[in-house]
Amino acid sequence: MAGGTSTPRTRVRRLPKRGGYDRAAIDPILDEALIAHLGFTVDGQPFVIPTLHARVGDVVYVHGSAASRTLKHLAQGFPACLTVTLVDGVVLARSIFNHSMNYRSVVLLGQAEPVTEQQEKLEALVAFSEKILPGRWDEVREPTAKELKATSILRLPITEASAKVRTGPPGDDEPDYTIPVWAGVIPLALVQGTPVPDPKLTFDLPAPRWDRLPKRVK
Ligand SMILES: Cc1cc2nc3c(=O)[nH]c(=O)nc-3n(C[C@H](O)[C@H](O)[C@H](O)COP(=O)(O)OP(=O)(O)OC[C@H]3O[C@@H](n4cnc5c(N)ncnc54)[C@H](O)[C@@H]3O)c2cc1C
Repeated sequence: MAGGTSTPRTRVRRLPKRGGYDRAAIDPILDEALIAHLGFTVDGQPFVIPTLHARVGDVVYVHGSAASRTLKHLAQGFPACLTVTLVDGVVLARSIFNHSMNYRSVVLLGQAEPVTEQQEKLEALVAFSEKILPGRWDEVREPTAKELKATSILRLPITEASAKVRTGPPGDDEPDYTIPVWAGVIPLALVQGTPVPDPKLTFDLPAPRWDRLPKRVK
């Protein structure tokens, strides 16, 4: 993977050919990943907290309760690291040493800014909603002013980020190709299960189709 410009903090040093820094590499990974892990330190103690995220243009939004420790901390401008990972397969080699995973991941560094303007808050919430299920926003009740106030949203600009991608078969050591063991890639993907209606659902309605399956399994 090539393209884009790294910084001393984002340059992929281990297997640099797998690294990329341009938005064409970064954005699709951010968009396909359903969840992110948000890293920060409080008094020297690192924390890495799972959370939803949604990219809109040049920013990634995270959101949660206004009482969230994570969001209250990051809103003060402390350094943050948001990581997303897509697992595409297990890579089975002929030696245990050369086993690997096929994956696409992004690490984004920066400082989060609180979103205070009502319109941007709503746009971010639409983006979260669209990410969970496209079209959902138009079907459900919109947030009240009280609910909006109870929701904290932060924006993390995409200014310093790297993507790292592994694809393809195992890379075995030449003498190991004679070992009689299966080798190759077992692809993995997130797939929709059978919908379970809420026991309190009183309408006879078809379940929506969760249409976020990665293109390769559609
Ligand atoms: C897939 C997924 C998506 C999520 N999406 C969101 C989201 O969009 N917005 C949101 O606000 N929250 C989300 N959460 C919950 C989130 O991880 C936090 O639990 C929550 O935000 C509370 O954060 P806090 O900083 O106030 O936690 P606190 O309660 O202050 O955290 C205190 C301690 O509790 C422990 N802890 C907190 N969260 C977790 C956790 N998830 N798993 C294990 N231990 C934990 C940690 O040790 C942490 O240091 C999501 C969780 C998951 C797994």
